[in-house]
Amino acid sequence: MFTEEKKEEKSLNFLEEIVEADLQSGKYTQIITRFPPEPNGYLHIGHASSICLNFGLTKKFPGYTNLRFDDTNPVTEDTEYVESIKNDIRWLGFEWEHELYASDYFDILYNFALTLITKGLAYVDDSTSDEIAALKGTPTEPGKNSPFRDRTVEENLVLFERMKNGEFPDGSLTLRAKIDMAHMNMLMRDPILYRIKHAHHHRTGNNWCIYPMYDFAHGQSDSIETVTHSICTLEFAPHRELYDWIIEKLEIYPSRQYEFARRNLNYTVTSKRKLLQLVQEGYVNGWDDPRMPTLSGMRRRGYTPESIRDFCDRIGVARRENMIDVGLLEFCVREDLNKKALRRMVVLDPLKVVITNFPEGVTEMCHSENNPEDIAAGVREIPFSREILIEKEDFMEIPAKKYFRLAPGKMVRLKGAYIIQCDDFVKNESGEITEVRCSFIENSKSGQDTTGINVKGTLHWVSAAHAAPVEIRLYDRLFSVEDVSSEELDFKEYLNPDSLHVITGYAEPALLDSNPGDSFQFLRKGYFAADAESTAEKPVFNRTVTLRDNWAKASESK
Ligand code: ATP
Ligand code: MG
Repeated sequence: MFTEEKKEEKSLNFLEEIVEADLQSGKYTQIITRFPPEPNGYLHIGHASSICLNFGLTKKFPGYTNLRFDDTNPVTEDTEYVESIKNDIRWLGFEWEHELYASDYFDILYNFALTLITKGLAYVDDSTSDEIAALKGTPTEPGKNSPFRDRTVEENLVLFERMKNGEFPDGSLTLRAKIDMAHMNMLMRDPILYRIKHAHHHRTGNNWCIYPMYDFAHGQSDSIETVTHSICTLEFAPHRELYDWIIEKLEIYPSRQYEFARRNLNYTVTSKRKLLQLVQEGYVNGWDDPRMPTLSGMRRRGYTPESIRDFCDRIGVARRENMIDVGLLEFCVREDLNKKALRRMVVLDPLKVVITNFPEGVTEMCHSENNPEDIAAGVREIPFSREILIEKEDFMEIPAKKYFRLAPGKMVRLKGAYIIQCDDFVKNESGEITEVRCSFIENSKSGQDTTGINVKGTLHWVSAAHAAPVEIRLYDRLFSVEDVSSEELDFKEYLNPDSLHVITGYAEPALLDSNPGDSFQFLRKGYFAADAESTAEKPVFNRTVTLRDNWAKASESK
């Protein structure tokens, strides 16, 4: 489906165009962008898109990108998340100029608030959140002024200081900007700037019991860092007016906000809140479960940073939200692994084949290339003997039309080894085929001249005596429906019950020479990565992706 697509020199996206124009006009000599995660969860594929965009801009144009933790909400944040975020960004292949924390600006932000109060542009409000909401109005009706709106500057300064000193309980008072309760943009109707929250913060401890709201922290942090282009997702477009208002009134560095569309992937969720639920309620085995769309989950599953960057590059940036097909992501990882992954033979559902004319107790070494796409990867030895294992599905008692695998009287090539012919088979009482009996053709070993023998199928196989049992985790999509993003849906009801099957596979010995994270192509079966906890004693492999898009085929044949 995606193979037709060619990677060409792409024209600039709309954000690159803006940056280029700003540099050409001399508005800036270098640009500064930032990636601003809230440390309340692990990064997911949507964040990767924002990372590639922000870091990508300063790779293409002069300037740099900061990593700023947007940690102004004490309750949901944690240092575990901070560490995982740093780790994931580096793994993806990017390095930030400065590591910054919005919480480091709490003093500056407090002083900014004092400035607004002094200018008569902010006031302390005793209204409860319900009372504030009741006076807010609707998009078509203006709101009403709070009875506390006309407090004097002195009164506001005293009250705000007392808020800071912890004299009031949570939710009793707020600091609000004094803008316009009849403003067309609801966010401009005296937005809350500070709220009281007696909570421990992962970095500032118990120093503060008032915390700035997003709108009074984000733009100001950008400004403190002299960020030139502050890129966020579309839902923040209505906030831009407030972003500009605060910067203007404080007379601080004029950072500018630009929006691009959030990236959503089908068959999964890209919301930290929902992913946290899956983790906490035990639907998956942690944030790095290979079914998760988190970067740590994808890494464990065998995705490479190159494949994720390629994916982000191909989807580009858009101004409108849309759903991206996970098939594109899978296409990108196949492309990358095809170039890099060593080939190995592993039988997932074994059927014994006895080569009756091959001597008992003899092992003969065969050879096969590690990667036909990369000659430098060399060749490996594969032991061949009288008893081998093939996939059950590679034998049919009564072959269907165009079945070029093994069947009575038919010949196949064993990859890297001999051509064999099926002479007979054995069934047990319940009618299952338990053994296939074959003979090998002399002088038909891979590399020998076999002109005159017409063989269409090539099978993967392992020598039974040399096969190593390995645990194989077959992963599939986490959700069984395409779009689970709607808030009306209980997304957990749509989990795919078949998202994980654990089986034992039988591997050629060379596979055991691997380290956690190594990727392989299991011939004819897909790409697999050695799990983070895989050991020589208990090897475990995760299926990254099948060789072909089985889902596309299934829906085509419907
Ligand atoms: P979530 O809803 O998953 O918590 P968020 O936007 O609240 O996402 P943040 O930690 O605030 O998460 O995001 C950091 C940056 O990543 C922000 O600039 C945000 O716009 C961007 N981002 C988050 N999710 C996506 C997405 N799906 N597509 C593109 N960018 C995203
Ligand atoms: Mg957020």
